[in-house]
Amino acid sequence: MTFNCRQCGTCCMYLGDYIAIERQTGEFIFECECVSTGTAFTAEVDEDKRRIFSDLSFPENHPAACRFLRPDGDLLRCTIHRDSPAQCKFYRCIAMRVSDRNGKPLGHITGALALHADDQELRRIWEGILRGRPKTDSEAEPWIAGILRENGYQVE
Ligand code: SF4
Ligand code: SF4
Repeated sequence: MTFNCRQCGTCCMYLGDYIAIERQTGEFIFECECVSTGTAFTAEVDEDKRRIFSDLSFPENHPAACRFLRPDGDLLRCTIHRDSPAQCKFYRCIAMRVSDRNGKPLGHITGALALHADDQELRRIWEGILRGRPKTDSEAEPWIAGILRENGYQVE
């Protein structure tokens, strides 16, 4: 269940209101706030991303996106990877992929442990999982995977 971020940038496309730039204090240095937690942080644009950061056409055309997101070839990259807030560093859009016993994909579970699936039986089992899950996410993840496997699902 190792998560590998593909740097598709999808999760950052609507975070412009949540990663707020309060003021610029240097050529590539910004005082910022992570609005959802009220946490202030200082961000210096990564040295190897200053060229792409300086092209403002992407933020101009995507006003809802995080102000630090920039295209880089086929990728959309965070240009403050070193200084990005903890919520960004630990974010996982997918913690587990769930398939039926034949390997047919049914959906996925996010890093915040939310099920994204339409399958009615899986959703029914998920309701029971939510009622019994351990309190901490680190305990809950393997526990959830175990329950799903006991019910015949494949989890990876
Ligand atoms: S966490 Fe997921 S959505 Fe966000 S950039 Fe990585 S792969 Fe894309
Ligand atoms: S700081 Fe980086 S990881 Fe966080 S929302 Fe902005 S671009 Fe995405």
